[in-house]
Amino acid sequence: MTLFIASLNSGSNGNCYYVGNQEEAVLIDAGLSCRETERRMRRMGLPLSRVRAIFISHEHDDHIRGLEVLSHRYQLPVYITQPTLDQCRFPPHQDLVRAFDPGAAITIGGLTIKALPKNHDASDPYSFTVASPTVCIGIFTDIGVVCDNLIRHFTQCHAAFLEANYDEDMLMKGRYPWPLKNRIRGGHGHLSNGQALELFLDYRPPFMSHLLLAHLSQDNNRPELVQQLFEDRAHGTTIIVASRHNESEVYAIDGAYHGIPGHAWTPEGNRKPAPAPAAAPPVSPAVAISAARRRKALAAGQSKPSSTQISLF
Ligand SMILES: [Zn+2]
Ligand SMILES: [Zn+2]
Repeated sequence: MTLFIASLNSGSNGNCYYVGNQEEAVLIDAGLSCRETERRMRRMGLPLSRVRAIFISHEHDDHIRGLEVLSHRYQLPVYITQPTLDQCRFPPHQDLVRAFDPGAAITIGGLTIKALPKNHDASDPYSFTVASPTVCIGIFTDIGVVCDNLIRHFTQCHAAFLEANYDEDMLMKGRYPWPLKNRIRGGHGHLSNGQALELFLDYRPPFMSHLLLAHLSQDNNRPELVQQLFEDRAHGTTIIVASRHNESEVYAIDGAYHGIPGHAWTPEGNRKPAPAPAAAPPVSPAVAISAARRRKALAAGQSKPSSTQISLF
């Protein structure tokens, strides 16, 4: 069954992704205001009445800013784990909260949603896949490192939103202070263009018709750079860069595409086993000191630092 997908916005200023069939849909994250979400849905020709639930990936403001108002106005159930809810600055009404277990599938009409744990600087972060009986969509942003979990789910996707947050060179030569640079690239921040490209080149399944590059940094990346980087090696997959400023088009994913798989597939169409996860880049002394301070603060019974709620990148 065809699934329709769109990005309402993508980046550290707000994230919201739409996946649905003809009858029902879900939103992954609610990082735009309710009014802006309504405006963009209207412009895309997608009725909010079709949305049945919101799934929350983690508590950073750029993923939850519109959550409280949007869920209340449309009485939408919100799938969120307790640690994320505890840190959420715009929590939904208690009546609308639904828990979810990683790995367990949630069925909403003809849609099946699965959550997979990921590495990110948040209390309990998840990526999601949303599937119809024949089509699977991945929503993979805010990821510190390409782990086996991500690889396994990426290889099942007919289309995916995949983070390409920063160009390594622009980040390293840019104006950010070193502790922040190291947080971004230190295994619990974001995926670089190069890391995302490597995943795509190695593990793209032959049926991946669309790749939407997501959560691009304002300061350390450029949309045209990402578009070119991936398009040159797309082998037929349609490459789209999701905007920090506007909604995307609505893409219909019908599952009929058959192209060239990534390097990690055998000629018989089987996936080669995933390699051992890559080690995180070395952490600078400044980051080590701040991590030690955080551990000390937590041991002393202080609450988590507020920086965990705010996406700095
Ligand atoms: Zn984010
Ligand atoms: Zn985040």
